[in-house]
Amino acid sequence: STLLAQRLFGVKPSPSMAAKTRVDAMRAAGRRIVDFTIGEPDFPTPRHIVDGGVAALLAGQTRYTASNGTPALRQAIADKLQRENALPFKPENIAVGNGAKHIIYNAFAATLNAGDEVIVPAPYWVSYPDMVALHGGTPVVVPSSQRDGFKLTPAALGAAITPRTRWLVLNTPNNPTGAVYTRDELAALGEVLKRHPHVWLITDEIYEHFVYGDAVHVSPLSALPELAERTLLINGVSKAYAMTGWRIGYGAGPVPLIKAITMLLSQSTSCPSSMGQAAAVIALEGPQESVGAAAALFGSRRDRMVQLLREVPGFECAPPDGAFYVFPSVAGLIGRITPEGSALSSDVDVVHYLLEHASVATIDGTSYGMPNHLRMSFATGIDVIEQGCSFLQDAVRDLS
Ligand code: PLP
Repeated sequence: STLLAQRLFGVKPSPSMAAKTRVDAMRAAGRRIVDFTIGEPDFPTPRHIVDGGVAALLAGQTRYTASNGTPALRQAIADKLQRENALPFKPENIAVGNGAKHIIYNAFAATLNAGDEVIVPAPYWVSYPDMVALHGGTPVVVPSSQRDGFKLTPAALGAAITPRTRWLVLNTPNNPTGAVYTRDELAALGEVLKRHPHVWLITDEIYEHFVYGDAVHVSPLSALPELAERTLLINGVSKAYAMTGWRIGYGAGPVPLIKAITMLLSQSTSCPSSMGQAAAVIALEGPQESVGAAAALFGSRRDRMVQLLREVPGFECAPPDGAFYVFPSVAGLIGRITPEGSALSSDVDVVHYLLEHASVATIDGTSYGMPNHLRMSFATGIDVIEQGCSFLQDAVRDLS
């Protein structure tokens, strides 16, 4: 017999969190590592937001709040959704959690019965399939191709839907590929969903402010207002305001679903942290210049990283439209032989080789449901990007 519950079988820890732990451990052991695994902005929370959090603490906002978040924050979120996404939500449509991840987790907890299916387009953020499995659901991974810009096609969606389908999870801009769905692409997916009224939609828009070139973020619900009664919009302050450690994210959707999620929040975490919520109000209602500045900074790093990776033999890199990751193919390295004489048989081997040989940390595409690729974050300095890519050049040259 085992201590652990059966529902833990088949669930694994987050590969991106594990990569961070590995880098931290190597650095603690004295190794210098160029870290391209970073899943968060590399600069501090803007000063006025930190000051707002501190002021809230000093003013005594140190107690439990409502389980679904303070009225002030839920109003600020409703205002944000109206202002930036032209979506008419009321505070009662909103639940605040300890990060966007926490709301997605509780949405699955609230809605999945054993065997219910959740369509997860690949490449996907590592946590979706495991969170589904943890709640007894079955992740239905639908592959996409580079040719389609790593986006779910209406035909693939239609083919994946069964009577057991509960949710489709759409992530735009996407982690790890940076794919950004256009209004027309969303409308075409919406046509399929309209034919299947039992399928609900999660839209994870946590990277909405980081889009590059001609790409624009379209909130799926603004393209598909007729799906409002079966859509849960997910967003938060982690990425846009460099607030990952404050742990504030939210869901907006139909009241019965929000009530069910709130019930689970009340029985688990009780409420999000009071100071984090106060700071999130400042983030959403205060000056927004820092967001545009961060997007511009990420844009220039993206350009440099794509340019340098295209010079590394064996790497094929399309410029991502959004988020802060590139997702190059390393198919050209598979089968090559390391100086120790072993063959690189997969992207997992490539990650290992680059870490050991070049001291460059990346994450394997296999973890994101797309083998033969790497995820590399450009949420790091240009100098780090240049050094890491030059190390990659050397490491690839050492292969035979
Ligand atoms: N959704 C996606 C696609 C992410 O990449 C992440 C973080 O890496 C999250 C959600 C989690 O955000 P939060 O910090 O609000 O939990």
